[in-house]
Amino acid sequence: MTKINYTNVAIYNHEKQDFIAHQHMVVDTDTGKIVEVGNGSSTNQVIDEVSDMHGRFVMPGIMNAHTHITSIPTYWWNDGKEQRHSDSREFNTMFAVRNMEDAINHGITYIRNVGAAYDIDIEVKKMQEKGWIKGPKVMTSGKAFSITGGHGSGGGYEVDGVDEVRKGVRQAMKNGVDNIKMMVTGGVLKNGETPDDIQFTSEEAKTAVIKAHHKGKTAAAHAQGNAGVKEAVEAGFDTIEHAFDIDDETIEMMKAHGTVIVPTMNAMYAIYKYGENTVPDWAREKVIVNIKKHFASITKAVQSGIPIAMGTDAGTPYNGFRNESAYEMELYVEKAGMTPAQAIDSATINCARAMHVDDEYGQIAAGNYADFISMQENPIDDISVIQHDKDVYQNGTKVHAEAGVEASKQPQMSNQVSAAI
Ligand SMILES: [Zn+2]
Repeated sequence: MTKINYTNVAIYNHEKQDFIAHQHMVVDTDTGKIVEVGNGSSTNQVIDEVSDMHGRFVMPGIMNAHTHITSIPTYWWNDGKEQRHSDSREFNTMFAVRNMEDAINHGITYIRNVGAAYDIDIEVKKMQEKGWIKGPKVMTSGKAFSITGGHGSGGGYEVDGVDEVRKGVRQAMKNGVDNIKMMVTGGVLKNGETPDDIQFTSEEAKTAVIKAHHKGKTAAAHAQGNAGVKEAVEAGFDTIEHAFDIDDETIEMMKAHGTVIVPTMNAMYAIYKYGENTVPDWAREKVIVNIKKHFASITKAVQSGIPIAMGTDAGTPYNGFRNESAYEMELYVEKAGMTPAQAIDSATINCARAMHVDDEYGQIAAGNYADFISMQENPIDDISVIQHDKDVYQNGTKVHAEAGVEASKQPQMSNQVSAAI
């Protein structure tokens, strides 16, 4: 058993909505958990090692509730043809491993993957748990559910009618998923549909949720237009992904159901800013039509007190597994009216709650896993400092040192929030 006392550290406190200076934190690297957090360096624990943090700012590791680890954001279109799900199992697996490493090196310590070709996230999760690959902890959804020819079809289950949905969800549960992902409406990155199209019927959507909840699992709905979001909230989905458009009635329904929104603002933002010459016009046009509406919708949700769990849709064009999660948090502050503390909460405790792991994740507290990031500067003063290179700890041990690892060869996006919408 190795106990490390991290001293002289400013720790983020969700209750106080701020960092508290001059604290200490004892972690046990055998269990991977925090055993004590306190005001100073004195502790009754038997300590094997003391690590002076020199006043650095520590917050829980970033959680990202919406990723696609089998996708690489720079590898989407080849001669105008979508490649993401047309590649081999091996190709997708290699990308997943690479994305996992990018994520942990950028402070993302837990992801909820919501749609993976070939159920690859299920195997990747096992590899990560055994310590065979480097990366964040993974909550899986396996293959997503689409209607035949609908959004996301091609890499997931194509099901039509209540019976096929029921059979499919039971199969996904048998395969070992933690969450069900259902494409309730159309979306941006498929031609011939719009975010306002409702694809699954209310009965199909309800069937998926009932079957997931029956097994104690969560369910996430890709839902963009207001009518589709309403249908998904009514069906009982735990999280609504994207939510491009919501009205007052939808807000009230969400409050009644305890629904969480996962905004993925950087998905459209990155296409808007970088995709002019590469992303096909049909997709860009949908971004231009919907981006303002989306940002207004998330702003409204924030003002109404709907819980927001940070998610980026990592794997879409120009939206990867590196600092995009931190950009997403900056977008919440700059474009959706959150305070920096609220943005931190969205990527920590709110994700942990949405993923039903808040008993062990999302806060720096005794009993929680010691997954955290340490920064030179205070994100409450400037949320964008989370985008800087940082020390990353997983299960109490440093797994990435600031400026210590050569960046992988993916193009690095600059700070994106400068783009005017
Ligand atoms: Zn997605």
